[in-house]
Amino acid sequence: LPGFSQDTGKAFTVATEPAFPPFEMTDQKTGELTGFDLELMKAIGQEAGLKITFESLPFDGIIPALQAGTVKAAISGMTITPERAQTLSFSRPYFKAGLAIAVRKDNNSIKSFDDLKGKKIAVQIGTTGAKQAAQIEGAEISIFDSAVLALQELVNGKVDAVVNDAPVTLYAIKKAGLPGVKVVGELLTEEYYGIALPKNSPYLKQINDGIARLLENGTYQSIYEKWFGT
Ligand code: GLN
Repeated sequence: LPGFSQDTGKAFTVATEPAFPPFEMTDQKTGELTGFDLELMKAIGQEAGLKITFESLPFDGIIPALQAGTVKAAISGMTITPERAQTLSFSRPYFKAGLAIAVRKDNNSIKSFDDLKGKKIAVQIGTTGAKQAAQIEGAEISIFDSAVLALQELVNGKVDAVVNDAPVTLYAIKKAGLPGVKVVGELLTEEYYGIALPKNSPYLKQINDGIARLLENGTYQSIYEKWFGT
């Protein structure tokens, strides 16, 4: 029946693009997917009584998979945008982020968004950063499958800048030992991550209630501190 859903104990498949540390990453020792989003989603699954399994997809494959119904949800540092909300349902926001500009440490000419005109810029495919960079006059944009690869291009001196989510770029600089890179200027945007679901998914309320409980009972805070604490 349309709209009829029942928890049959079957796996609840959640899509993610696995190279967006510390939200999504592969544990070097175990080879398992881990990260802030993964732990949050597992905890939501426990609250909501859903048996979560993750499916790795390219970032630009996640929205098509949700639309086709081959996955039940996605958690992937995905910004809630009005454009995406036309074809998807989003949970309540679970993380505040925004876009930052990264350059090499020896670059003193790029200090703000306006300085990116005519420059070589690396971005990740299908992202809000890619969209923002596409609006820069005369810029030469290189598109990569992951933010990690875009940042590596900057380290290698092949591009002048990367436009990417600030928490991911800052984590790469501080924790993942990305050499010779700095963040400049103000955040270009204020963005909120949400869990994406197919439009009118019957699971939206369960997911939102799960997030609310994790915020109340301190679980959200402890997962946050594990990945973002000092
Ligand atoms: N937050 C950005 C977006 O939604 C990037 C997400 C990602 O690369 N995983 O487009």
